[in-house]
Amino acid sequence: MYIYLPEVKQKEGEALDYLFEENLSEWFDDFSEGGTVKLQVSVSASADKVLVKGNFNAVIKAVCSRCLENFEHHLEADFTEVFSVLKEVLSGSTPDSLAAETANMHTVAGDYLYLEEYIRQLIILAQEHSPLCKADCKGICSGCGTDLNNSSCSCYMDDEVVDIRLLKLKELKQR
Ligand SMILES: [Zn+2]
Ligand SMILES: [Zn+2]
Repeated sequence: MYIYLPEVKQKEGEALDYLFEENLSEWFDDFSEGGTVKLQVSVSASADKVLVKGNFNAVIKAVCSRCLENFEHHLEADFTEVFSVLKEVLSGSTPDSLAAETANMHTVAGDYLYLEEYIRQLIILAQEHSPLCKADCKGICSGCGTDLNNSSCSCYMDDEVVDIRLLKLKELKQR
């Protein structure tokens, strides 16, 4: 997943479009079951900057935070990023000073702009802390563990509704 910059620079002022599709199993240690990402980008370059605009669409395996079932989680986002072209290291600048200068910048050196790590970070950011298999997932019963999406159980009927009625009956009898 990389852009060959001399190809882009030839078309100074014009954007070139690229499409990538990759398997995610090698990007993330815990994605042994796989997943894919499709990336569409439009790239333009000047002598010192590379502008990348596009969007990604990823499908990853996730575990629903309510019912604990595996499901395919679709993630997508648009992004625009400017990568600064690193010039030859200036005499007098140390690796530390260079690192400090470029700490908050996306940089590229040489002829290739590798997008994998950048997109990997976007996918991580797009993941929800508590993913749901569907917006109205009913989850599992905390009483008996039944998956309430597939069947119902009688835990809460017994505990709450019926008990309240029984209590009232008992109160009546005690009078
Ligand atoms: Zn669920
Ligand atoms: Zn239950």
